[in-house]
Amino acid sequence: ERITVQELANRMAERAADIVKFLMQQGQMVRANDVLDADDAELIVEEFGHTVKRVSEADVETGFISEADPEESKKPRAPVVAVMGHVDHGKTSLLDALRETDVAAGEAGGITQHIGAYQVQLKSGDKITFLDTPGHAAFSAMRSRGAQATDIVILVVAADDGVMPQTIEAINHARAAKVPMIVAVNKIDKPDAKPEKVLQDLLQHEVVVESMGGDVQTVNVSALKRLGLEELTEAITLQAEVLELKANPDRSAEGVVIESQIDKGRGPVATVLVKRGTLKRGDIVVAGAQWGKVRALVNERGQQMAEAGPSLPAEILGLDGAPEPGEVFAVVENESRAREIVAYRQRQLRERSALVTGGGASLEQMMAKLKQADVTEMPLLVKADVQGSAEAITAALEKLGNEEVRARVIHSAPGGVSESDVLLAKTSGAPIFAFNVRANKQARELAEAEGVEIRYYSVIYDVIDDVKATMEGLLAPEK
Ligand code: GDP
Repeated sequence: ERITVQELANRMAERAADIVKFLMQQGQMVRANDVLDADDAELIVEEFGHTVKRVSEADVETGFISEADPEESKKPRAPVVAVMGHVDHGKTSLLDALRETDVAAGEAGGITQHIGAYQVQLKSGDKITFLDTPGHAAFSAMRSRGAQATDIVILVVAADDGVMPQTIEAINHARAAKVPMIVAVNKIDKPDAKPEKVLQDLLQHEVVVESMGGDVQTVNVSALKRLGLEELTEAITLQAEVLELKANPDRSAEGVVIESQIDKGRGPVATVLVKRGTLKRGDIVVAGAQWGKVRALVNERGQQMAEAGPSLPAEILGLDGAPEPGEVFAVVENESRAREIVAYRQRQLRERSALVTGGGASLEQMMAKLKQADVTEMPLLVKADVQGSAEAITAALEKLGNEEVRARVIHSAPGGVSESDVLLAKTSGAPIFAFNVRANKQARELAEAEGVEIRYYSVIYDVIDDVKATMEGLLAPEK
């Protein structure tokens, strides 16, 4: 339980200065941003005539108190499966093929849109949820935010190509996340397929398949010819049984954001995966630093749903912005609670980014300031048309620089440049990089008034080149 002086003051609607003064009288020197321990906080609350209601850090951080559900409340849930592997080994093809194993598709209409995840029902009646954003970026984004969404990893290895660098990367990801793997040896239809060699290769990386005395299941498949898919889904169900996956469906929903975007017609849309509880239309949801009332729940068939239980992916409409993938979401009691949590998080975001404060925020001003102040980080804010490009730009920028100076993306999200972006940029002294998006009128006016620079781009390399050039300027010896 940690709270800063300022945060406590806000909650009590008192001035931080008064708390500082009070603590000084007690012989303690603190500043507004210092963290108080729980006992001090309690003392202060009482001193100022308020009642103490301890709220855990997890409560404030994630919007809910993460207590475990009693065992008897839990019911079996579908496994959540991610497909990983080397580029061109057939991840996308396999996800497409698996989509067609759905027996529910007949009456309800097939899967029509990509929302980041889909659930299939097998002939046996078992259900499986697949995350259909192949690639390791989404997986690690979730992990880095502590939101584990995946129960099982399907490691796709092309039988004609064998274990490659991204295969190894995938193995490491799965291992670090302690998620069991099932190996799908793909492209078995090819004349030059060498499935035995794949298994040998895997052994070198300590992935020991069942036929070699290990416990990793392996299935030969052809995504193209639709071979081995039933065996693969059986292997998944078997693995899921071993894991005894369960969740309590009868509680307010919690889960994780899989994807998000700003849709021209529908506004912010986020695909979420419920981990426990049941999400219902009309629920008040906090997701990352965004909140809203769930106006609609839509599945991958484009159908409206009244609710979504554990392991069921759903698009939600009604948030006030696009939360980042991997962000945790939770249903909260009411709007004022949602506002409180979101305000807290936005404050944290600003505090974390308040590295270079005051003055304007143009690239030039920032560089001048950095030169003076010996600050080695270049704060930047990135807005882009889609989540994918926002992430790609952020990743590319954060790789630039050296030990003397490097870029730090304080915020990156899909969507046009808004007033709140400009405010965040201003407090952080960061210019805004707008990729294939514009700023609205209010944002432009505010940026002008506050001296925040908005730079527009339509080519990723231009963004990178500009930042690189600026950095080089910074590193050049002064005359
Ligand atoms: P990803 O990069 O891992 O998503 O791979 P893709 O699914 O895009 O597949 C890469 C290429 O391999 C495409 O040309 C596919 O048609 C081809 N491919 C995928 N699965 C199979 C398969 O089972 N057999 C054959 N012969 N080709 C396949």
